[in-house]
Amino acid sequence: MEPSAKLDRKNRTRIRQIVGPDHCSDSSEDLFLYAYDALNRRYLPDMVVHPGSAREISELLKLANEARFPVVPRGAGTGLTGGSLAVDGGLVVTTRRLDRILDIDRDNMTVWCEAGVVNGDLQAEVEKEGLFFPPDPASMKFSTIGGNAAENAGGPRAVKYGVTRDYVMALEVVLPTGEILHTGSSAIKSVTGYDLTRLMVGSEGTLGFITRLLLRLVPKPETVRAMLTVFPETRMASNTVARIMSSRIVPSTLEFMDRSAIDCVKNYLDIELPDDAAALLLIEVDGRATSVTEQMATIQSICREVGANLVRAADSEEERESLWTARRSLSPAIMKIRPLKINEDVAVPRMKIPELIEGVEEIARCRDLIIVNFGHAGDGNVHVNLLVDPEDRDEVARAHSAVEDLFRLVVSLGGSLSGEHGIGIAKAPYLAIELDETMISVMRRIKGALDPNNILNPHKTFDFDPSVTSREFR
Ligand SMILES: Cc1cc2nc3c(=O)[nH]c(=O)nc-3n(C[C@H](O)[C@H](O)[C@H](O)COP(=O)(O)OP(=O)(O)OC[C@H]3O[C@@H](n4cnc5c(N)ncnc54)[C@H](O)[C@@H]3O)c2cc1C
Repeated sequence: MEPSAKLDRKNRTRIRQIVGPDHCSDSSEDLFLYAYDALNRRYLPDMVVHPGSAREISELLKLANEARFPVVPRGAGTGLTGGSLAVDGGLVVTTRRLDRILDIDRDNMTVWCEAGVVNGDLQAEVEKEGLFFPPDPASMKFSTIGGNAAENAGGPRAVKYGVTRDYVMALEVVLPTGEILHTGSSAIKSVTGYDLTRLMVGSEGTLGFITRLLLRLVPKPETVRAMLTVFPETRMASNTVARIMSSRIVPSTLEFMDRSAIDCVKNYLDIELPDDAAALLLIEVDGRATSVTEQMATIQSICREVGANLVRAADSEEERESLWTARRSLSPAIMKIRPLKINEDVAVPRMKIPELIEGVEEIARCRDLIIVNFGHAGDGNVHVNLLVDPEDRDEVARAHSAVEDLFRLVVSLGGSLSGEHGIGIAKAPYLAIELDETMISVMRRIKGALDPNNILNPHKTFDFDPSVTSREFR
């Protein structure tokens, strides 16, 4: 691969001086390693660096503005929309060395950490202090807090606890021009100035490079109990969700699987499922032990009244874990059907889930595709997985048409293209299906004001045109 004209020998030398020669590489092995994330696309960067401080990142961005080469922030590379891919070459800047938990404050229930800390490691550390960091993307064992904030990641617990945005109180961010910005405050209430913390969270690495975060924590729940319930009709599962919520119980997770997803994980469950299983809910309740027992009993009665043909509570931690193993096995199990999974994470108001599932079944029939649905029923965020053979060009083309059908359906139901995975390059071409011209124009103006030379993560969110780059390879 030819080096980008902008990242010439002189600039490579300057980059080595800024981060130190041991913390950067342009060997083909390393470039290849950083050429992909969890989206099935590959783009070679020109160089990869692992800086050790905000100051070094600031120097890199100042140089990038002078020499006009792209800079792409990268956490663990688990993103599902191509956000950390160097689509036009340039410099990939990782948070690998920014991995310290700096200060856990038990009294104020907050933690300062660096952006490269892995979510699961942070959770384990704060739990030792009796505290709890709720955002739990299924990638939590690998993904970084910086990446979670950049994508505003969610997870199963979002139905009760909200998403990453709800826990970020303050940030240290290196702006695209190299200035170091400090947003927010350690006070729970703080309304001085524009809320730039919220602007940065979910900006997918296009407006600033997050280096440190102050996160809000909550007390660790005393008990967690899980149950599995199966219904002969999808609508019954949605009605159950509505009934549970209106009985003033907010479960900590309310996960949903449709018939095709149930078929995929049947073999991973120790339980015999009814033959007519059309929808499955995996429900968890947390809190004080006495209240959890009462809430479990109420939820079980609701499930039976609505028409569940199986209600099974996990009696032990092992049983609870085995239910979650089945849920987590879904992605690998699906991949056995077809080698390529196009994973959309659309969100609709939760009572519209049956209409969404019916609409998706119709799209699958019309486009002659296999589509498997599962997700977070409590917040209406459904993962719609289109299963495709990448060698079958006709099937790939039908899948792309189906994605557009899906987005139009979702918007007609009052929903959103993405509940948690972000837009990146994967959904950028479809943005105008949901956002109007004014909204896109304001987003462009914000980007232009903070990043006048379009240095930081260009071509992401609203700007991806595959023809701008020849860097993609198979
Ligand atoms: C198996 C699997 C399960 C998943 N489950 C979930 C889930 O349940 N919920 C969910 O929301 N997501 C999920 N994801 C998607 C993904 O894990 C999240 O988007 C996660 O937040 C990405 O974190 P990362 O560290 O891997 O970031 P990366 O993939 O490295 O980067 C993601 C984006 O953030 C930007 N970025 C990274 N670090 C910074 C930084 N410090 N400053 C500024 N920008 C930055 C990048 O440029 C890119 O645009 C899953 C992914 C996989 C592979």
